[in-house]
Amino acid sequence: MNTNQNTNQEQKKHFLTSHKAFRFTAALCAAATLAGGVAYAATPDTTVSEQAAIVTESSFTDVIMTTFDAQDAPSSDLIRLKTPVDESMISLVVINNKMDAALENQNRIPSGWPVESRIVSTEFNPTANPAISDGRKHEGMDISTKSQIIPIYATACGTVVTANYDSGYGNQVIIDHGNGFTTLYAHCNELMVSAGDTVKKGAVIATTGNSGWSTGIHCHYEIQLNGVYQNPRDYL
Ligand SMILES: [Zn+2]
Repeated sequence: MNTNQNTNQEQKKHFLTSHKAFRFTAALCAAATLAGGVAYAATPDTTVSEQAAIVTESSFTDVIMTTFDAQDAPSSDLIRLKTPVDESMISLVVINNKMDAALENQNRIPSGWPVESRIVSTEFNPTANPAISDGRKHEGMDISTKSQIIPIYATACGTVVTANYDSGYGNQVIIDHGNGFTTLYAHCNELMVSAGDTVKKGAVIATTGNSGWSTGIHCHYEIQLNGVYQNPRDYL
């Protein structure tokens, strides 16, 4: 036992003999037990000197005092301490996140009509099948708007990649939906978006018109999936 240890032991002895040692030792035993240390066998019959001897024979670590007091703790800490982990809530968060992701994916698939009109003046006919409409090749679907200029809505969320004038399609908007799908809205009167804009499903992107190669106010609506023209009727 070196000098320092002796000094420490002497200090502990002094402390125990010069204070109300039993109560202190009892508290020390409890603290040592909590800390995983050795509990000292002090009893009410143990004399002060015996208690000191018990302590000096053992190599317990210093008592760790904590200032934590539930009375003084911030309410947020108390709530945290008193609230058990609710695993069902964790599951709900996971399910909710998955639903959000599913909805996000769903919103990127074209669906519904791009205008509030159901008058199809020319059907989808990519192979120029003479049995369809006028038999001319047509890679989209024309929806007449009864000579009225009305809003055109994005049928899925995405990014506008084209918003310009084309001699054939007239004023057109093309949206990339980020999943292989693109949609095109042609012969517009006015374009309400610009290339680079992100749009939500249902956003007004243009108004119907008669621009380009067109013989009446309508919306020429195309859907492509990975570069392959789709029949818009399959997505209404
Ligand atoms: Zn058309």
